[in-house]
Amino acid sequence: MNRRKFLGFSVLATAGAIVNPSTAFASVQRTKEKEFIPTRVLGKTGLTIPILSMGVMRADNPSVVRAAYNAGLTFFDTAHGYQNGKNEEMLGAFFKDKDRNSFFIATKGKANPDSEHFETEYEELLNTSLRRLQMDYVDIFYAHAIDNIEQVNHPKLTTLLKKFKEEGKIKHIGFSTHANKPEQIDAAIEAGIYEVILISYNFKLNILPELDQAIQRGVDAGIGFVAMKTMVGGTTDAEGKQKIDGAACLRWAWKNPNITTAIPGFTGFDLLDNCLEAAYFPQLNDKDKLYLAGLQENEMLYCQNCEKCVDDCQKHLTVIPSIMRAYMYNYGYRQPSLSKETLAELQLTGSECSDCKACTVRCPSGFNVAEKIASISPIIHVPDAYLV
Ligand code: SF4
Ligand code: SF4
Repeated sequence: MNRRKFLGFSVLATAGAIVNPSTAFASVQRTKEKEFIPTRVLGKTGLTIPILSMGVMRADNPSVVRAAYNAGLTFFDTAHGYQNGKNEEMLGAFFKDKDRNSFFIATKGKANPDSEHFETEYEELLNTSLRRLQMDYVDIFYAHAIDNIEQVNHPKLTTLLKKFKEEGKIKHIGFSTHANKPEQIDAAIEAGIYEVILISYNFKLNILPELDQAIQRGVDAGIGFVAMKTMVGGTTDAEGKQKIDGAACLRWAWKNPNITTAIPGFTGFDLLDNCLEAAYFPQLNDKDKLYLAGLQENEMLYCQNCEKCVDDCQKHLTVIPSIMRAYMYNYGYRQPSLSKETLAELQLTGSECSDCKACTVRCPSGFNVAEKIASISPIIHVPDAYLV
């Protein structure tokens, strides 16, 4: 597979997708060649999308977006905060002359429903995103990085999300979560307004059986599921020694028919090619299984968000999983600015661990939590001009 094949396409994507709900994979074709990317339906939204989508988060090259679009991808995921808004602006510039029915856009906004001016602030956030995207509406709007049940059900948040939808600014309501707790999915079912959940989903998750059952309950209630962090937090293992085979990771995620699509964050053509290769041949094969089994014992950069560290920590630091995510953004994704942005939201003092004689955290993923906190915290003081 190479980029030449992306060109000279005929758009059969959204209008002509072949959908057969009785099979795990229907398909979509935009290339002239023989490759088909399977499609699935995203819960009760009814959106039919390829199993491979683009997590645009780290991409800053519109040519990569163009290659993905020309290859038949129709679903593009961004967020209000990515690259300080430049990510949405890039998508806006790219899509402004495209047929609005040939793609779907999802964006996210961090909600703080306990803030005094939440309604006006959150509405302004969405309006700003729409302006940057040069669009009247987004297909999916996620409340960004929700990590507890109280937020899922927060009446100020759910009321406002419903209002956005009634006004036509968003077509479908969702939330994203790194916490991945089955309880959050159950809370979403109970809330009744959520149509899509964006979750971390990969072969290293240690709560898979419970999570898969909760996803099934969500699907039964009409919720569609989009997978992120399928590559376990970067393009290499924690020591930077072993390159991650993104294709094997994606095929593992797609073997769950309840995962409608995955949004790997490819920033260049090589990883796009790797992901497309997986999408054209999506069945998990013996080579993939062997490869993934070999990675099971490796420490990766992905934090499970199990919160055992919070219980173990002498100071009960609830921010540890988020600090681990910031660590992953810097050392796995090579995105120091996103790392700093994540840490800034936590309002750290920088001396969290300073008066601890010995760290009492025993992380099941093998993270030396105190060491990682000490290593990543200084980034908060690095001026933005020095970060990418
Ligand atoms: S114990 Fe380890 S894997 Fe679990 S949340 Fe804490 S850092 Fe992440
Ligand atoms: S060193 Fe840090 S993470 Fe470990 S127990 Fe102390 S405060 Fe908690």
